[in-house]
Amino acid sequence: MRFAQIEIVLQEVPGEVSICFSITGCPLHCDGCHSPYLWKKTNGELLTTTLFRDILLQYKGFATCVLFMGGEWEPQQLEKLLKIAKIDGYKTCLYSGYESIPQFLKQQLTYIKTGAWNKNLKGLDHPNTNQKFTEVATGKNLNHLFIRP
Ligand code: SF4
Repeated sequence: MRFAQIEIVLQEVPGEVSICFSITGCPLHCDGCHSPYLWKKTNGELLTTTLFRDILLQYKGFATCVLFMGGEWEPQQLEKLLKIAKIDGYKTCLYSGYESIPQFLKQQLTYIKTGAWNKNLKGLDHPNTNQKFTEVATGKNLNHLFIRP
């Protein structure tokens, strides 16, 4: 698994400071994709478990959640990293373009965003979006947290 960037984000998971890993190799190729550089599997840097642990250690006490933008196309590798994040005390979130993901991955997630990018329906901050942001344990849809008054 490779990543194009790692950044601290405040809006993608409501109420959390998230370490966001943008994973390359996205197979969905949505029309109007905002990040086509994520399509090529060989782009970016290898996300080794050592590097992952180092990043989590670096932000311990500041960040509260580990967010993966993609990576579900390498489910075993993703599961392994999510387990590490949970053991380290982080909440976990996956932004997936799929409608659903395997149960064994869901078990490692606090939150999940599902649904491909549709340039007409737009993202979570739009009331008519096709995308869903869900709290996994309760199955609650939390899209309302993204809508600005
Ligand atoms: S899922 Fe995201 S990164 Fe992948 S093609 Fe669609 S918009 Fe781009």
